[in-house]
Amino acid sequence: MYSPANDSKADADTPYVAYAGRPLNLPRLEDDTRADLVIVGGGIAGCSAALHAAEAGAKVVLVEALTIGWGASSRNSGHLPPATKHEPDEIIRRYGKTFGERIIDTSDTAPQVLADLTKKHGIDCNLQLVGHLTGAHMPEKMTFLEKRVDFWRKRGRPLEMLDRHEFEKMSGTGFYFGGALDRRGGSINPLAYVRGLARAAIKAGARLFENSRATGLEREGDIWRVSTPGGTVRASNVFLLTNAYTDDLWPGLRTSVVPVRSLQFYTKPLSSNLRQSILPGRQPMIDTHRMMNAIRVHDDGRLHYSVGVRMRSGTAPAPEQAMLRLRELYPNLGDLEGGTWWAGWMAFNQANSWQIHNPAPGLYAALGCNGRGVMLATMYGRDLARLVAGASHDDLCLPLTPIKSVRFHSFSVAGVSIVRKWYRMQDDREDNSVRHLKAAS
Ligand SMILES: Cc1cc2nc3c(=O)[nH]c(=O)nc-3n(C[C@H](O)[C@H](O)[C@H](O)COP(=O)(O)OP(=O)(O)OC[C@H]3O[C@@H](n4cnc5c(N)ncnc54)[C@H](O)[C@@H]3O)c2cc1C
Repeated sequence: MYSPANDSKADADTPYVAYAGRPLNLPRLEDDTRADLVIVGGGIAGCSAALHAAEAGAKVVLVEALTIGWGASSRNSGHLPPATKHEPDEIIRRYGKTFGERIIDTSDTAPQVLADLTKKHGIDCNLQLVGHLTGAHMPEKMTFLEKRVDFWRKRGRPLEMLDRHEFEKMSGTGFYFGGALDRRGGSINPLAYVRGLARAAIKAGARLFENSRATGLEREGDIWRVSTPGGTVRASNVFLLTNAYTDDLWPGLRTSVVPVRSLQFYTKPLSSNLRQSILPGRQPMIDTHRMMNAIRVHDDGRLHYSVGVRMRSGTAPAPEQAMLRLRELYPNLGDLEGGTWWAGWMAFNQANSWQIHNPAPGLYAALGCNGRGVMLATMYGRDLARLVAGASHDDLCLPLTPIKSVRFHSFSVAGVSIVRKWYRMQDDREDNSVRHLKAAS
């Protein structure tokens, strides 16, 4: 079965690498040591938890199987859309008023938290809170976006609806019926960000180790022992922050998520004419398709596009395939030579959202993120760190839930491929059905 474990161990060739500064080159764990908290996984969640726990005075050890940020944290699109993944009324229905409001508040405050963190720790990660766009691919989706915009505007947040003409001006494409602009959001270089968080955690006193995969997790009295090939750490608290890259360290955790492989593509720098017409304000853009388009233009003029989901190993999307969809949006793109792609894994579960588990005393796992994770992994990592400083479970942003295996997990690769195809068919059908409307207007 193809899974994150079969991935190449090489760093991904992303547009972030050239602007992310030096890698950390941290040592392997080579001894037996004690701590208050061991964190498994050096992504944004792990590094945020390490930073905040160390700042609160805890002795922290973090072990990362490969290099800091090697998972989704360095491979994502770097969009920062602050609106919640599920609509607010759905969140309140699912989680009740107290936790529902906290979840909504977490998304709302996250951009400011990132801005404060990067400023405080001098993290140079090109955080640009210039707004985030969502295009409506059908007229009905304008009503859906209006409801979202209304919700946040009633809370005084800077969101607005854009009509077709206004949206075209900001996005450079006439494909959409209009859309929403959320001025709280923006974009980031996530590799530079996760490395910056790791450096800040080290400065705060945390000990971080690379190439130190946790291979064993055992209870010794009221202490946990985490083993790696080179050494061990004993601590009363363990956080498993491994998201889609979760292995069999704790029973049932791997099968509680379905890893879904998402492909990303970037072009060579656009001509200056195209740069001025495509997303000229540098707001990244997503849309209301089920298999949503996600596009941004980097400062060096590269156009970055999320190609979609592909579960097979080594299947590079032909640049022509990505270009075909891009040209639907931007017919004047012309021939863009070359193009590079990479892949990363997201974690889906039955709730289609983050879950925090506490399967044994002092042991926590937070996973299930499949988007918006740059901000939310920061927030949930910070939230978990408060537990070590004495906060209670009732103070968390998310309620604790039991670990639940995804039904028919062993068929997940086939299942994801089928769902992807079905979603794509529905999107194509809807696009075809509105073509005549566009032609008429
Ligand atoms: C292609 C793609 C595009 C995305 N786009 C966006 C976006 O635009 N905006 C956004 O906000 N979010 C986006 N996301 C989601 C976001 O990147 C993730 O939600 C977030 O990075 C998850 O962070 P994490 O720290 O929980 O996990 P990860 O960054 O995946 O880190 C998990 C780490 O755990 C390590 N690990 C696993 N097992 C072990 C072990 N046994 N011992 C030690 N270490 C171990 C792995 O090596 C890995 O480094 C995207 C994700 C992908 C894949």
